[in-house]
Amino acid sequence: MSSPPPPAAPPIEPCRFCGSDRVDRREGGPAVLSCPGCGLMYLENIPPAAEREALYQEEYYRGDTGARFLGVFEKLVAFFRRLRVRAILGHEPGPASLLDVGCGRGMVIEMLQKRGWRVMGTQLSRTAAEAARKQRNVEVFVGELTDLPLPDGSFRVILISHVLEHVPRPDEYLRRARSLLEENGLLVIEVPNHGGLAFRILRHRHFCFDYPNHLIYFTPSSLTALLQRNGFKIERSSFFSLEYSPFTTLQNMLNFLPGEPNRLYRSFMTTGEGRLLRTSPVTWLHAVLACVLAAPALLVSLAALIVPVGNTMRFICRRTRG
Ligand SMILES: [Zn+2]
Repeated sequence: MSSPPPPAAPPIEPCRFCGSDRVDRREGGPAVLSCPGCGLMYLENIPPAAEREALYQEEYYRGDTGARFLGVFEKLVAFFRRLRVRAILGHEPGPASLLDVGCGRGMVIEMLQKRGWRVMGTQLSRTAAEAARKQRNVEVFVGELTDLPLPDGSFRVILISHVLEHVPRPDEYLRRARSLLEENGLLVIEVPNHGGLAFRILRHRHFCFDYPNHLIYFTPSSLTALLQRNGFKIERSSFFSLEYSPFTTLQNMLNFLPGEPNRLYRSFMTTGEGRLLRTSPVTWLHAVLACVLAAPALLVSLAALIVPVGNTMRFICRRTRG
C-alpha cells in the first residue's frame, strides 16, 4: 500500500508590504518569505498580537529592576547605552527632544534627561516600563508606537534600536515615526543585518533569527528601500556595533555545535531557563570554547568597519520635506 501524499504547503499570500505575488518561501524551520518586489524577508506565520505582547511581559525583563541579564552583563549594557547616547549627541548636540521607541530599561532617556533633554520612551513590557518610571523617573508609554497619542512634529530625534525587526508592520512604524518628527528631524535606526553570509549558512540557527521574537529580516538594501519609501533620507550607515557585532559573531560560531542554538546567550538571562542552563556542564563547555573563540570573533566582526558585511546595521536618517 502506498503512503498518502504529504500535505501540500498552503498557498503563499501576496507580500504584505508591496502586494507582489512573486513571494518565495524558505522552509526547513519556521517558514520565511522573501519578496523580490520590495526585498523584504519576513516570518510567514506571525504569532497573534496577544501572544507577542506576552513575550515581552514577565519573563523578558525582571520585575523589580527591569533587568534582563546577570549583574555583570547589566553593567555592560549601561556602558553600551552611554555609547548610544554619544552617537546621538554627535548628530544632534541638543538639548532637544527625543523619543526612544522600545526603550528597554529607559537608560538612554534617563541619560539625556539629565542633560536637559525632553524625553519619552515607548515599551510593550509593563514590567520594564514600571521599573523605568520608578527607578529613573522617565516617562514611558506602554504600547505600540502607532498608538502613541501625541501631535505630529513632537520630537527632534527618534531612536528605534533593535525594535523594527520585532514588529509585524515596520512600514507603519516608520510612517508614524516620520509624522512624530519635526521637519528635518533625526531618525537613528539599528537592526540586525540578515544580508550577510552567516545568515545564508546558519539560517534558523543564526543568533539573530531569534524565533519568535524577530519577525522581519532586514538587509542593507531592503532597509534602505523601506526608509526611502516612508519619507527618510539616509545620511550615514555603519555596520559595526561594539555591543552587538563581536558577540553575534561569537554566538554564531558556537551555533555550529549540535543542540539548541544560542545556549551561551540564553544562560546569561535572569529567567528560569537561564538558571537551569547555568547548572549544565554543556553550557560551561560552551563558555570555555567562547573564551578561545573570543579573539577570532572580534577580528572577524571588525571587518565590518571596512566592508558593509557586519551582522548589525545603524542608519542615520533625516525626515524629508513635505
Ligand atoms: Zn514586497
